[in-house]
Amino acid sequence: MRRTALACALAAALLANGAAQARPPAAAEPVVPPGLQYLYGSGEAAALSEQAYNALLGFVIERVWRDHEHKPAAGDKEQAVLAPGATLADPKWLPCDGKPLAVVFDVDETILLNLGFEYDDATHPGRPYADTLWESWEKAGVDKVAPVPGAITAVGELRRLGVTVIFNTNRNASTASFTEAALTHAGFGPAVHGQTLFLKGDLGSGSGKDSRRAAIAAKYCVIAMGGDQLGDFSDLFVGTPGQRRALASTAPIAQQFGIRWFVLPNPVYGAGLKGRLDEIIPADKRWNSEHTSDPKEPN
Ligand SMILES: [Mg+2]
Repeated sequence: MRRTALACALAAALLANGAAQARPPAAAEPVVPPGLQYLYGSGEAAALSEQAYNALLGFVIERVWRDHEHKPAAGDKEQAVLAPGATLADPKWLPCDGKPLAVVFDVDETILLNLGFEYDDATHPGRPYADTLWESWEKAGVDKVAPVPGAITAVGELRRLGVTVIFNTNRNASTASFTEAALTHAGFGPAVHGQTLFLKGDLGSGSGKDSRRAAIAAKYCVIAMGGDQLGDFSDLFVGTPGQRRALASTAPIAQQFGIRWFVLPNPVYGAGLKGRLDEIIPADKRWNSEHTSDPKEPN
């Protein structure tokens, strides 16, 4: 009897051991890029987005109030869209010409957070970006996006104020119905392709948005724009990282940010994630902890 019990215990132990050995090793925890942690996981990024949307809404409320009171301010006759031939150094703006008010937003990482796509990207380290992959995501990810913090409130308030909300995005025209559905799913509907939704392929195949902005501005007075890339405001922001940085931070264009143009954070992808170390840190600002002595106290 005792021998039987021992045999049973031994068999159970062997089975348990076998099961443990057969179990596949635990998958390595995916490395989460810092930018992804920041944009999709941090309170700081949420606060920045709320800040941008609060500022935009405040600007529009004041503008609508001035229109209501017939007390226009300097600049109220101008759109937030640069006129053909304008430069960033000498900006000229399209006229409003009494057209109905509109605000134009980019979509990705401005209105929608592409959580599902970035999850897949983070779990496939080293895989290069491919347009075909993104197009698959546009169709498959309708219910795996989330609104950017602050965007739902702002879009709802803009519409309540009678301002038309228009989306100008480099999502593909061929997947328009899916993007319409994604915007509706996230709480921004309705968005109608060709009326309040403009996509890559609508007016040329390039990713430049000026042609679409011009088409929107022909029908509306665009008083503000929101985006996470400088190309969401003008196609003129080109060049090296240093050149683009200088373009954005030189008057008079520098004074448009937070006035006509409202910028959302995006440290995950885009034109801002470029530049060698020696292109970013000037030679006279480089510090090497291994080749230095204790500095003297400043006078
Ligand atoms: Mg974007």
